[in-house]
Amino acid sequence: MRFDIITIFPGIFAGIFEHGVVKRAIAGGLVAVKAHDLREFTHDRHRTVDGRPFGGGEGMVLKPEPLAEALESLGVAPKDQRDARRESVVLLSAQGRKFTQETARELARLDHIILICGRYEGVDERVNELLADRELSIGDYVLSGGELGAAVIIDATMRLLPGVLGNDASNQFESFGSSDADLTEAGRGDDPLFHNSTPRSTHGAGGLLDYPHYTRPSEFRGLTVPEVLSGGNHEQIRRWRRERAIEKTFRNRPDLLENAELSEQDKRFLHTLRTSR
Ligand code: SAM
Repeated sequence: MRFDIITIFPGIFAGIFEHGVVKRAIAGGLVAVKAHDLREFTHDRHRTVDGRPFGGGEGMVLKPEPLAEALESLGVAPKDQRDARRESVVLLSAQGRKFTQETARELARLDHIILICGRYEGVDERVNELLADRELSIGDYVLSGGELGAAVIIDATMRLLPGVLGNDASNQFESFGSSDADLTEAGRGDDPLFHNSTPRSTHGAGGLLDYPHYTRPSEFRGLTVPEVLSGGNHEQIRRWRRERAIEKTFRNRPDLLENAELSEQDKRFLHTLRTSR
């Protein structure tokens, strides 16, 4: 998979992808990431990439021509001839649809993603209409540029690719991950509680937040690790983790519960949380 970033500050990306699993994925040839300087696609003496907004108002707006040229130089097909199963041009924008784990899963199916980073007041809207396939926001706040958003999207997407994480199952068993049913359908064993014939100590997240994790020491500043986790009873550990995941989601992100995949047992537990408020 290839990520091309179009930005007026390519230097921002030096270092970001030189650590951990991302670095390994790049070194192993699973992914390629390149930042391109938008000013390379200008033709005037001042290498102008922005202009004043029509209608007046604050700030400057990124011009469409250098962006169109940058895409052409990357071999990106015109929007109406683009193969949406292979390639996507993403415009980073505070006005975009919210980027979620589901969006990362969609993007992870493609071969080539091009990220356009806005600056100043943003990007001429015709870029959105004529060149971009997706307008994505990484959250409800305004950043000074799209570069951090591009890095977020690349990281979240890349780690879903087969071979990038040490254990491919890891991204199934974390916040926003798959349900047990999906894991079974994906051919990960007939019994959703068993994975590679080993009893699983956790459920697929099914849209919930992850459960809390602990490591040694078993006591830290008076707080001990919950006893159930050292007991070796996989069924009890699984239930404990599931309930903590439901509890965390209920406290921090109750909106996620609407679409979470909950068993009757989960629903009963959620009911006790709601009524004990
Ligand atoms: N005038 C814009 C608005 O009010 O929506 C804000 C422009 S912002 C200062 C400059 C650039 O930062 C945007 O063009 C976009 O590329 C990027 N940006 C800002 N917030 C973002 C967000 N939440 N998600 C993704 N990109 C963002």
